[in-house]
Amino acid sequence: LVHAVNVTKSFGDNQVLKGIDMDVSKGEVVCFLGPSGSGKTTFLRCINQLETIDGGRIWVDGELMGYQDKGGQLYRLHDKEVARQRREIGMVFQRFNLFPHKTVLENIIEAPIQVKKENKAEATARANELLDRVGLSDKPAAYPAQLSGGQQQRVAIARALAMRPKLMLFDEPTSALDPELVGEVLTVMRELADEGMTMIVVTHEMAFARDVADRVVFMDGGVVVEQGDPRQVISNPQHERTKTFLRRMQ
Ligand code: ATP
Repeated sequence: LVHAVNVTKSFGDNQVLKGIDMDVSKGEVVCFLGPSGSGKTTFLRCINQLETIDGGRIWVDGELMGYQDKGGQLYRLHDKEVARQRREIGMVFQRFNLFPHKTVLENIIEAPIQVKKENKAEATARANELLDRVGLSDKPAAYPAQLSGGQQQRVAIARALAMRPKLMLFDEPTSALDPELVGEVLTVMRELADEGMTMIVVTHEMAFARDVADRVVFMDGGVVVEQGDPRQVISNPQHERTKTFLRRMQ
């Protein structure tokens, strides 16, 4: 579903991605691990074109992201086209980014109605279904400020799912949460994985990576240092950098 080839990205003199190759199959759950600043978030943001890449190519579901290829020459797509591509990818951030002045239900139905032109009844029915799925069927009328961080993050997941994405990107979705609220968000993510959603998850939750991921990717210094079966990479890392990182995480 995702095919990335030799992706490079710099911010000024700082080359953050130094040629990333990455394939993710439909239904696969891939967790990205690595120290702060290793480029994990940037790579995630490149996939859905929140960052423009300097080199390489990224395809999602066969579609070249952000560019049109004319005889090997790349031309940037119009913003409208980029927005269309981005709509098919759900993203959940560290911070929940809900609209504070809208209710939970309004947060979820906003994009399906405004962007996908779904009718309100249809969007509302789907939103209620999604709220049920994330364990918040009693909260459609609540405002974000009335919810815990874990509940807000579950609303953010429901909101992303309302757009029926092909792919879900999670950028450290639990790292802003109080420890006792982490589990409820990971449970929702685990269920999503079990249902066959394709997911790329940047996380520091080792237990989640070990138990839920089909593959773990360890990044450091803008490169993929090693990847493979979660148990193998986490329990028996091959590279010194991975070993050092994992030792620090324990
Ligand atoms: P973290 O776990 O802290 O999020 P990360 O592995 O996700 O780390 P990135 O957030 O991708 O790392 O950041 C990689 C590097 O890119 C860092 O040095 C960061 O300062 C830099 N960087 C990221 N975004 C920008 C930006 N918009 N402008 C300038 N530098 C940036």
